[in-house]
Amino acid sequence: MSFPLRTLAALLVLLPVSVPAQDFFKPLKDFVEDLVPQRAPATRPVPKATPQVKEEAETPPPLPKPRPEGLGEEEPEAPVEAAPAPEPDAPVEPEAVPAPEPAPPAEEAVVDDRIYQTACPALISGAVVAKMLPPIAEGVCMAQSPLEVTALNLNGKTVELTSPIQTNCEMATALVDWAGDVDAYAKAALDSGLAALQTGTSYMCRPRVGGAEQFTSEHGFANAVDLVGFTLADGRSIVVENDWLPATTPEAKLLRQSHGAACGKFTTVLGPEANADHEDHLHLDLGCHGQTCTAQICE
Ligand SMILES: [Zn+2]
Repeated sequence: MSFPLRTLAALLVLLPVSVPAQDFFKPLKDFVEDLVPQRAPATRPVPKATPQVKEEAETPPPLPKPRPEGLGEEEPEAPVEAAPAPEPDAPVEPEAVPAPEPAPPAEEAVVDDRIYQTACPALISGAVVAKMLPPIAEGVCMAQSPLEVTALNLNGKTVELTSPIQTNCEMATALVDWAGDVDAYAKAALDSGLAALQTGTSYMCRPRVGGAEQFTSEHGFANAVDLVGFTLADGRSIVVENDWLPATTPEAKLLRQSHGAACGKFTTVLGPEANADHEDHLHLDLGCHGQTCTAQICE
């Protein structure tokens, strides 16, 4: 720029005076004006640009400062601490997770090993001489707390069972109660107390006999006992098969009184007069009859 200005100044000095100055300088003036406005905007935008740059630089800093400071502090700390932290934490957590998983099976195994049964008060009191048996589960047949009963304690003495029976606590308890009545009847009718119960079938998983065979017998739930006869203290044997008839004998009287007494203690009592299947024993059970389990069958 300096070179063309100097050249123009030299030309102005050398130009002849006759030439109209206005016409002569016009192109030069236009040229200079073209140069001047170029300088002016060039200088003006510079100061403007400078304050703009300062303002922009001053204004944005406060905004970006908190951001970079916050981000800068968190980012350097987070990546440093977070990076190593998740690595040690990660292996610890996966180890802790699989640990409780194997633990539940151990608890389930404990639960499975535990056998939940119900205690029998008659066994605790000694009225029933028996031992607890494991739960019975045989198809539809089942009994959660069966007993193996070998004797009954009643009226101050022990009445044996000719063969151990597998039955539930309710049946064993009712049997002791009933046997106590039988003992009193035996003393009254035959002048000899009860020494033993001649027992037949107890637990047996089978359908009913002589009735609705599609139903499982109460024997299948350890809820029934068949009584074949009695053995008295003097050694006499009184059995249903031989002594039910004739009905007028002392033996038949004992059997029939015992049958009647059973009707007040069991829900089902079936004897020789029920059907041919029971001509040689008394069937006793605690099956549920009626909607409220209060109905009784006494035949
Ligand atoms: Zn039976």
